[in-house]
Amino acid sequence: MSTQPTQINDSLSLLPQVKVILVGTTHPGNIGSVARAMKTMGLSDLVLVDPQTEIDEKSQALAAGAKDLLETVTIESTLEEAVKDCGLVIGTSARSRTLPWPMLDPRESGIKLISEASKYPVAVVFGRENSGLTNEELQLCQYHVCIPANPEYSSLNLAMAVQTLCYEIRMAALAGVKETEEEYPLSDNMEGFYQHLEETLSQIGFIIKAHPGQVMTKLRRLYNRARPEAIELNILRGILTATQRGRIDSDNESK
Ligand code: SAH
Repeated sequence: MSTQPTQINDSLSLLPQVKVILVGTTHPGNIGSVARAMKTMGLSDLVLVDPQTEIDEKSQALAAGAKDLLETVTIESTLEEAVKDCGLVIGTSARSRTLPWPMLDPRESGIKLISEASKYPVAVVFGRENSGLTNEELQLCQYHVCIPANPEYSSLNLAMAVQTLCYEIRMAALAGVKETEEEYPLSDNMEGFYQHLEETLSQIGFIIKAHPGQVMTKLRRLYNRARPEAIELNILRGILTATQRGRIDSDNESK
């Protein structure tokens, strides 16, 4: 008789650290089906961002044995707010976007989410039934994941997409994934950095507030691809502060 390695149980205990975030959901039944999809795979942290419907009896009916998840659901008004405390955010997309982002497949997503879930909360984000996630929302994610469905009809029902991702997350947890050594910044810190960067680039005249163009989006993609660790982000913030100070000193000298 074989005994299960302890690592397996350790990884399963990480499942509650994985948030499932639904943005702008319009059908109450989908919220219930998502709760069921999550609970069957051992996930429990359901977050609704700006829901366009109430949780009603249709949600309850489709949640079946997962009604408890509907009772503990968190509601936020923006995605930025919902991912603030997360160190890894993966956004789902059924189609390719104009500005390509680092992509993962569902299997890689499950592994990545579990390998970082012991460090901080991690999240997987799902979009609106009719229009998916906006470009701004997708830019809050480090990676995008596309379920490689039939190219002639690749848009899954929301809850089915959640089920597919949650299954992969559970499989990764069951396999027992090695914890990452790196410590990445939380989403809130990354957003603080981007604000600081934009402010500094405006002050030195590199971007003009009235005509910012695509610079910040491209820079977001660059830093996102590099994925600085928390310590590296502190260095970058230090460079920005020194740049701002230099700018103020030279302004004073010229007066
Ligand atoms: N018509 C929308 C698709 C909405 S489907 C669009 O063009 O973007 C609702 C949600 O289910 C999507 O936002 C996404 O979160 C998820 N989803 C559906 N199919 C998917 C796929 N093939 N890969 C990844 N996510 C998918």
